[in-house]
Amino acid sequence: MATASSRFWDVIVIGAGASGMMCAATAGYRGKRVLVLDHAPKVGAKIRISGGGKCNFTNRQVTPANYHCQNPHFVKSALARYPSSAFIELVERHGIDYEEREHGQLFTLKGAGEIIAMLRTECDWAGVELQLNCSIHQVAFRPATEATGDGYVLHTSQGVFGTDKLVIATGALSFPKLKASDLGYRIAKQFDLPIITPRPGLVGLTIDLPNWSELAGIALPATLSCEGRSWTRNLLFTHTGLSGPAALQISNIWQLGRSIQLNLLPELDAVSAVLTLKAQNKELRPWLRSRLPKRLADYYWQLYPLDGKPAELSDDALRQWAQALQQWTLTPSGTDGYDKAEVTVGGIDTQAISSKSMEALTQPRLYFIGEVLDVTGDLGGFNFQWAWASGVACGMAV
Ligand SMILES: Cc1cc2nc3c(=O)[nH]c(=O)nc-3n(C[C@H](O)[C@H](O)[C@H](O)COP(=O)(O)OP(=O)(O)OC[C@H]3O[C@@H](n4cnc5c(N)ncnc54)[C@H](O)[C@@H]3O)c2cc1C
Repeated sequence: MATASSRFWDVIVIGAGASGMMCAATAGYRGKRVLVLDHAPKVGAKIRISGGGKCNFTNRQVTPANYHCQNPHFVKSALARYPSSAFIELVERHGIDYEEREHGQLFTLKGAGEIIAMLRTECDWAGVELQLNCSIHQVAFRPATEATGDGYVLHTSQGVFGTDKLVIATGALSFPKLKASDLGYRIAKQFDLPIITPRPGLVGLTIDLPNWSELAGIALPATLSCEGRSWTRNLLFTHTGLSGPAALQISNIWQLGRSIQLNLLPELDAVSAVLTLKAQNKELRPWLRSRLPKRLADYYWQLYPLDGKPAELSDDALRQWAQALQQWTLTPSGTDGYDKAEVTVGGIDTQAISSKSMEALTQPRLYFIGEVLDVTGDLGGFNFQWAWASGVACGMAV
């Protein structure tokens, strides 16, 4: 991608990340003169570190149910028009080797840099130009005159640029050390577009219980539930709370003040197992230590001991204890915050955006794509799939 060769463009995209590059290439292939601006020194910083450096670039089974959005229908059109198979086909055309891991997740074999190189190549082939290290100072709507139609004027550290159509692909607040910013929200506010209050997502949850740090490092498969949704994935106990795929997943749903339920023995019918112990005249605590990592079993037992031998306890008391074990209710005190969050939940309210073109319904020629919108995917490649699909939908429309 060359640096900006002109001051006037058909389309300017702010943000050279996943959605911005996808949109720019799509519009460029349609013959539009496209400029991408980014304040970072390099494109695609989040892609580079994603998926542990291997970029979980999409998922084999993407459905609208994998997304959290106040308007659950919003994602349907873009996802249907650019399904994960289309992105897989693009990856294959560029000769990128990949592997499928559990739950349909697709990762590159040689590293996320290949996805960035692919997007840059697509932008090059489509004639897209790029201006990095470009801070946006001001965005103004330019009303139509007798000589020109309406559009936007951008005052930047690299000078003034004019464009007919402006695409905001600035992502959201997660990972500020990778140059995440609130510019997208500020532009939305400037044009009176509503915002669903953002919060960190796909992030660890903090738990304030005495001696919790003793559990740090324990990992096991568990089912976590919140607000009627459940995921069975690996769970990691940290010094400050819970992490690992199960906790990250539930963090997209959880909100401050609400509780979550942990089933530490998802494969087991704990009530039957405990009543069998009673019949066999066996002890409860050794059984718990045989089923769970010992440190976790001891911690749980300290919180919820059941005095007396099972044989001396009523079936009801045993049943209640076993049920509680599979529904350990915890109220997180917070999250690990935007510094560690993979995504931002909330964002620009999709009620104000066309689901076909991503254009703002009340502000002509202004478009929003990717994570800046109130669309958050589950863990597993769904967030990139939204970036690709919304980028293509917009690139086809601008
Ligand atoms: C650690 C981590 C791992 C992840 N792993 C995965 C994964 O494996 N699979 C998956 O599906 N998702 C993953 N994600 C989420 C995924 O990276 C995002 O959902 C996706 O990148 C969003 O695309 P986007 O285009 O909306 O924003 P981004 O890709 O974040 O791009 C936004 C661009 O806008 C630029 N920008 C921001 N503010 C300004 C400004 N003020 N001026 C100019 N430019 C600006 C930024 O520099 C950036 O280049 C991960 C995220 C993180 C943080």
